[in-house]
Amino acid sequence: MEHPFHNALGIIQTLKQYGHEAFFVGGCVRDWLLQRPIGDVDIATSAKPNEVQDIFDKVIPVGIEHGTVIVRYDGESYEVTTFRVEGAYSDQRHPDTVHFVTSLEADLERRDFTINALAMGENGEIIDPFKGRQDLQYQQIRTVGNGHDRFKEDALRIIRGLRFSSQLGFSIAFNTLNHMIDLKNHINYLAVERIYAEMEKLLSGDSIQTGLNYCLQTGIGYELPVFKDHPGLFEEIVVLNRPLTSFAEFIAFCHYKRPDVSIHEWVKEWKAPNRIKYQAMALTHALTDYGQNGLNTWLVYQLPYELLESFVRLEHLLQDGSVTVEDLRNMKANLQINSKRELAVDGNDLLQMFPERMPGPWLKEHLQLLEKHVVMNHLKNDKHILEEWIQCHPPGKH
Ligand code: ATP
Ligand code: MG
Repeated sequence: MEHPFHNALGIIQTLKQYGHEAFFVGGCVRDWLLQRPIGDVDIATSAKPNEVQDIFDKVIPVGIEHGTVIVRYDGESYEVTTFRVEGAYSDQRHPDTVHFVTSLEADLERRDFTINALAMGENGEIIDPFKGRQDLQYQQIRTVGNGHDRFKEDALRIIRGLRFSSQLGFSIAFNTLNHMIDLKNHINYLAVERIYAEMEKLLSGDSIQTGLNYCLQTGIGYELPVFKDHPGLFEEIVVLNRPLTSFAEFIAFCHYKRPDVSIHEWVKEWKAPNRIKYQAMALTHALTDYGQNGLNTWLVYQLPYELLESFVRLEHLLQDGSVTVEDLRNMKANLQINSKRELAVDGNDLLQMFPERMPGPWLKEHLQLLEKHVVMNHLKNDKHILEEWIQCHPPGKH
């Protein structure tokens, strides 16, 4: 057994020593069989949460009522979940009831897709009651049991199915796809945060085109926040043919395509975090500047380092595709200043030069003017040179 499971093997073995059953389960087994990089290693066990708490030293009770605790083991965190079955999801977030059960198979049966209903024992043996391995081989996404019932229980599974098609490039089984179509309007009742988390993964999938085409073909795209209020908008995004790395990139892309739909609306309707809002605004600003003025040092100066790659991706998708990350990095490295704090004069210098003036908005405005001239290399960032320039261009009267 390889590295990602190796560390966690001790948890399985310890649980077994105490007389419980324990398995690796879900996405980690799927990805292991597909030889893809493994995300989180999750463990399912017959031990009840309080029993897990008694066995291990460091246990964080993150979702005890749903049977989940985090076990800190060998410096890593692992979700350990008691075998369970679930009731309805009437709040569209959590199942109303959770019953602990004794069999692994019952636990696997409540999982969404056959490829996610796989478990692996301590010796690498695979437990696969729903032919998940066969579906991995056929490269298809199929619900465990009747899709109609499973999507009715929790409509997020519809979006999850699309997200797996985007991540894995798999097709969606005929019946499963039809059941998705039947139940697609249930997406409207889901908590937006849950849709957001899945959409983020869909948009960063290697086969994003597959995922988006399914959204279009099934009409599920038209049920999503913002898209449902703007007919024709979803069609604009199916041209996305390479993975995006953040939702900010997605918002900037959509806003560029349809400027009538504001960034504010995207952020509000998708309940996107503030960080995403500011990144989407910065990317939009840079794209607009680029469209009007081409590549320039002011654009590069204003664009945060962490957005350089996003900007290049968007520029390639939306404009002529001539900018490289390398170009931007070089330009950043050659800037005279990286922030206005590095400007050779500050507010105090200006006040000393114009003692008759009261501090006011003119200070900030004049510093901004200097900042731009220095960044654009119209002026050298040298105190004497800047002061000379200020003498010749005294601040206007306010
Ligand atoms: P990733 O690698 O992206 O984390 P994952 O398959 O591990 O993919 P998670 O959201 O971490 O997905 O869920 C872990 C497992 O829990 C899934 O593999 C699946 O078995 C089960 N699961 C998650 N969400 C649902 C759901 N809404 N309905 C049924 N089963 C679910
Ligand atoms: Mg996971």
